[in-house]
Amino acid sequence: MTANSFTIHGIGVCGGIAIGHAHLVSHATLEVDHYVVPPYQVPEESSRFDAAVQSVREELELLHESVPATAPTEFAAFINLHLMILNDSMLSVEPRTIIEKEQCNAEWALKVQMDALLAQFDTMENPYLRERRADVIQVVERVLKVLSGQPGHVPPPPTDPEHERILVAHDLSPADVVQFKQHQFASFITDLGGTTSHTAVVARSLNIPSIVALHYARHLIRENDLLIIDGTQGVVIVDPGKQILAEYQLRQHQFDIERQKLKRLKHTLATTIDGCKVALHANIESPDDVMEAKENGATGIGLFRSEFLFLNRNSLPDEDEQFEAYRKAAQDMDGMPVTIRTYDLGADKQADETQRITANPALGLRAIRLCLTEPQRFLIQLRALLRASHYGNINILIPMLTNANETVQALQLLKRAKLSLDEAGVPYNRNIQVGGMIEVPAAALALGMFTDKLDFLSVGTNDLIQYTLAIDRTDDTVAHLYDPLHPAILTLLAGIFKVAGRAGVPVALCGEMAGDIHMTRLLLGLGLRQYSMHSAHLPDVKQCILKSNLETIRPLAQKMLRITDPIKLLLLLERINT
Ligand code: PEP
Ligand code: MG
Repeated sequence: MTANSFTIHGIGVCGGIAIGHAHLVSHATLEVDHYVVPPYQVPEESSRFDAAVQSVREELELLHESVPATAPTEFAAFINLHLMILNDSMLSVEPRTIIEKEQCNAEWALKVQMDALLAQFDTMENPYLRERRADVIQVVERVLKVLSGQPGHVPPPPTDPEHERILVAHDLSPADVVQFKQHQFASFITDLGGTTSHTAVVARSLNIPSIVALHYARHLIRENDLLIIDGTQGVVIVDPGKQILAEYQLRQHQFDIERQKLKRLKHTLATTIDGCKVALHANIESPDDVMEAKENGATGIGLFRSEFLFLNRNSLPDEDEQFEAYRKAAQDMDGMPVTIRTYDLGADKQADETQRITANPALGLRAIRLCLTEPQRFLIQLRALLRASHYGNINILIPMLTNANETVQALQLLKRAKLSLDEAGVPYNRNIQVGGMIEVPAAALALGMFTDKLDFLSVGTNDLIQYTLAIDRTDDTVAHLYDPLHPAILTLLAGIFKVAGRAGVPVALCGEMAGDIHMTRLLLGLGLRQYSMHSAHLPDVKQCILKSNLETIRPLAQKMLRITDPIKLLLLLERINT
């Protein structure tokens, strides 16, 4: 360790080791104080604002001059852009007017002006201009830092390629994380977020070491600090010494070799030692993820979270655009099953920022509830799905079912969509299978309500655990209460597998639990035969299944259902896993 070295602990959401330099991303909801400035101090407050702007201007100019000739050309352009934004009267003059009019502090005036500007950016058609939103925030952050008395921190020009950079953020929305897919960061870490928050879920899909719930990382880490990210242990080492660095480089190398070895299992069927066949499918967010799913040996897509097509945009995808996305996924999977979930918007994934914000969005108008309140929009998706079903093996999956009536209404709408295609002479798979997600405890307990109407079920343990244990999955302060081994969860899961089995309705599991190798054998012993997870987990889970013997696992798993003591449960799980 160096004198400045320290570690921060969080929750690892994707394993592996990354080593690189920190890149801090700004947060849109900057927190600033708001206080009244007496009239006689207003001129002084305005001068304080001017001085901060001037200081940042000088910082940026200095930075511009010091850009080495070898630095990427984008770097100088990026500084120029920030200078232009800073010099625009909207940022450098307008806040003065606000200080005078509202008699408020400079920080508040700047924040008010930034919010007004960002609102304008959101309505812009031009994607380039819209993307400049982040730049405005970064410039404002710089001025705020000077106003707060912190010395201006001028990051040295980034010399590393992006794949050696580590993204450090206070919080990231699922939509933000999806945008990072276009980048090649080595890792990302955030202060907020729980294990099954959608941010963590999407992070796993990036298959890079990542940690959430670090609490103060964004505050403690500076731009360009050297970081080691141990995604398996959930540890960040800031500014490591030479010895530690060498040790982690070795571990990283070993981890990569292991990964490569596992990839050789790609074409091996997932069958236990005693011959029980298991289907291993992948969870995806976009048709572009299909390639990775196939590379990792997925024999189907168990969950295509279609709502991600609706995020990061100003208008909703129309029927043709959706059709193309579903068709592409289905065709690229070469006839293997592709289960597409109808959009699960609401809660933490809003397509439309103007949507009503409620106190408990996870208990509000989300998923199928939202779809049924806007049948026209839902019909567009159903038509797109049906049209795409002509080109591959598509199944439709309905999220968050709670009442029998929701299934009836969803099926009626599907019938309407089919009729409209019939009238237009458009082909589709008439026997398209329709399934429901079991993620609300009420649905798990009254499963017969769904087994008599649907072709298959898929258990969403992320939500099932959230709703059963009353822990908001987006709230990192209760993330430690996430417990897939809670007797209530085990009882619900065993009940679902049993009732569905008796009814002859296939059941899959597509929550994060499916990709957790500590749970693989337990789930197998409880009766699960179809797992769906992020592609990166497929090889590990497959290896675990290949080494498992159902005959020995089953009695132990059944025994766990009769135990309530958490320690004994853990000990039994250990026995199952050895
Ligand atoms: C789940 O709830 O387990 C699930 C798979 O759906 P999501 O994580 O998208 O809510
Ligand atoms: Mg869910």
